[in-house]
Amino acid sequence: MKTKIVIMEENNIKQNIIEEAGIVIACGGLVVFPTETVYGLGCNALDALAVEKIFKAKGRPQDNPLIVHVADFNIEPLVKEIPNIAKRVMDKYWPGPITLIFNKSELIPMTTSANLDTVGIRMPSNLIARKLIEAAGTPIAAPSANISGRPSPTEVESCIEDLSGKIEYIIGGDKSEVGLESTIVDCTCTPLCILRPGAITLEMLREIDEGIYIDKTIMSKPKNDFKPKAPGMKYRHYAPKAPVKIICGDLEKTIAKINEIVQNSMGKKKIGIMATDETKNKYPCGTVISLGSRKHLDTVGRNLFEVLRSFDAIDVDLILSEAFEEKGIGVAIMNRLKKSAGFDIIYV
Ligand code: AMP
Ligand code: MG
Repeated sequence: MKTKIVIMEENNIKQNIIEEAGIVIACGGLVVFPTETVYGLGCNALDALAVEKIFKAKGRPQDNPLIVHVADFNIEPLVKEIPNIAKRVMDKYWPGPITLIFNKSELIPMTTSANLDTVGIRMPSNLIARKLIEAAGTPIAAPSANISGRPSPTEVESCIEDLSGKIEYIIGGDKSEVGLESTIVDCTCTPLCILRPGAITLEMLREIDEGIYIDKTIMSKPKNDFKPKAPGMKYRHYAPKAPVKIICGDLEKTIAKINEIVQNSMGKKKIGIMATDETKNKYPCGTVISLGSRKHLDTVGRNLFEVLRSFDAIDVDLILSEAFEEKGIGVAIMNRLKKSAGFDIIYV
């Protein structure tokens, strides 16, 4: 299939392209588009056949539900009920990087929700995304625009690499502002529960309700019989080709440990080091890439997936990563990092 690729900026939207891509979606086709979290691969969320094409194009496991993207606060037709507390979250953080889980209405096909009775809904803040949803005239189901298992794309080049030739349309925009997938909050229980950490942090949600908490299975290694509430959490995710190992603890000890591992494997392995601006000059050997400054963890989050992908491009045998404090956006960064490492962590 020939994929049409058009690049535009969020503050200079080509409306004729948006209309054309909207028709592709309305007719059951697939379109990649930018959002503030990561790039999405979208289709008509209410069309089970179109949704099946997404699973096929990504190689996505059938039991991993898709998030439904809307451009309008009127989501009543898509859900059974909207608890008052969820309305308050929507009022405060929509449009933005947060997905809410509701009991779904009959309008949402079982293929979209992967046979669950619930559905995740999000209103993105990215204007290209919202204009596309409006042009399609239907909610858009969109997982991240990567081949399943690979790091999520935050730049259009990564989407082209993974999906060109498999889908109808790619709309490119700027690099994703957040760079990490949305926070997911289960609104079918009281108090609300965070199923996936993201840029809307626990601290921010507790401004609405102090009882909101993070599902405790999220940050630790899943057990064999693990049945997570957010099905995607059980898969190896965000994984570059080379194995990732996290070194966690005091920063000076971390640097020493990384240097020791590199020294011990000298000549035998090509090692990539995920460092930060503060530490990048302290590694004499290995291929060092900085995620950004520790003083700006939002930048670290924004760069994480593309740095993981860039190690693929230079073919390293092992990636060693520094760790980050699990506070604020650091919770989301460590969640993605631990999953990309398959929870292989050395504590120092
Ligand atoms: P992605 O769009 O690739 O970031 O994946 C969406 C993720 O959202 C899935 O992997 C699930 O973990 C989660 N999700 C989507 N819908 C639901 C739902 N109805 N209930 C729980 N988790 C969901
Ligand atoms: Mg994904």
